Amino acid sequence: MSKSSFTRGFVQQCQICNSENLDEFINLGFHPAVNDFFETNYKKELIETYPMPILFCKECDLIQLGIHVQPEKIFPKNYAYRSGTTKILIENFKNLAKDVQQIIKFQKDDLIIDIGSNDGTLLKNFKDLGLNVLGVEPTGVAQIAIKSGINTENIPFSFENAIKIKQKYGKAKVITAANVFAHIENVNDIVKGIYELLSDDGVFISENHYLSDLLDTLQYDTFYHEHLRYYSLNSLSYLFKKNHMRIFDSKNIPTHGGSVRVFACKKNSQFNESKNFQKLLSKELTGKNLHQHAINFGIKTKESKINILNLLTSLKKDKKSIVGISAPSRASTLINYVGIDKTMIDYICEIKGSLKIGKNIPGTDIPVVIEDYLFKDQPDYAFLFSWHIADELIPKLKQNGYNGKFIIPLPVIKIIG
Ligand SMILES: [Zn+2]
Repeated sequence: MSKSSFTRGFVQQCQICNSENLDEFINLGFHPAVNDFFETNYKKELIETYPMPILFCKECDLIQLGIHVQPEKIFPKNYAYRSGTTKILIENFKNLAKDVQQIIKFQKDDLIIDIGSNDGTLLKNFKDLGLNVLGVEPTGVAQIAIKSGINTENIPFSFENAIKIKQKYGKAKVITAANVFAHIENVNDIVKGIYELLSDDGVFISENHYLSDLLDTLQYDTFYHEHLRYYSLNSLSYLFKKNHMRIFDSKNIPTHGGSVRVFACKKNSQFNESKNFQKLLSKELTGKNLHQHAINFGIKTKESKINILNLLTSLKKDKKSIVGISAPSRASTLINYVGIDKTMIDYICEIKGSLKIGKNIPGTDIPVVIEDYLFKDQPDYAFLFSWHIADELIPKLKQNGYNGKFIIPLPVIKIIG
């Protein structure tokens, strides 16, 4: 890997433009790695926590994490995230494959590479079309993909590894990076690797949590140490241009509480810039306006913490029972930032098949259990940690027999039911 403008530790220079003109507009305190789930009999003193400062770059507008934790700490061997257990993601990847087929006329031997391919959920759509697929996945989840027949290299993506992949498999017609483009260090190095590996008429598609949605709906729970950068279309455009590529289309998608799917190509490629992309780009706040929006977000985040704690403590004073619904990565940030523990929430339910069942929420004594407990125990309140898909979850839980009320924590805490 080439030398980067920063070393692991606190970020002194912007991750994209190298400027030192950075403002810390919020710090969410100390957090363990959000996917470092321990068995329920873990020894608490072994859990490492790291501060979570969030920075705004006054030069290029990039909002970014102000600390880089060693990847082996945040992507541990027991890494518990799997795309294939989330229905909305399975659907999303099907749609992505459809979008790609509208843009690219595939030839028989074309290669599709997915960076951060997880359990192979995205690539399966392309494999089903009879295309060659290759996943690049650094964590142990790669083994699940390999077992299900998705060709996967169990290595991290980097410029150096991109060269090796090109030598072994040739250039790719399509490269995808769904919700991992924010996770990898040395992003300029990554884009260089993508440029190297992509055929001249190829397309790179990335999906990222969208900064505008994050700020507008107070999604401070999506700040975690895996997410090094929070992209707007303007900051992504800047990044690609810096590396001889350009965005030619984009699309808002509903995953993770608001994401953006971006289509990029080499600078001199045949693709024309779409009206939709230009429209989305022109709607974004920039410069001082974006900075002020971020500062206001920081103020509202602190207010949210107090409001959630107030509600939970008053319900507990009234002897109400509260359990959590679903333990996505964002649950860990919210729980650790707000300071929720087992005195407030008895347990958190996950659906059958989740690798998190039988373990504790990182940094806490809250166990993760199978969803059946909710219907058996009928607690007074169900706290939705996947609040961004409340519209999908609430009818399903009611239909399955839960009779209690729901707490939706964000963007403004409310009770339903
Ligand atoms: Zn910058």
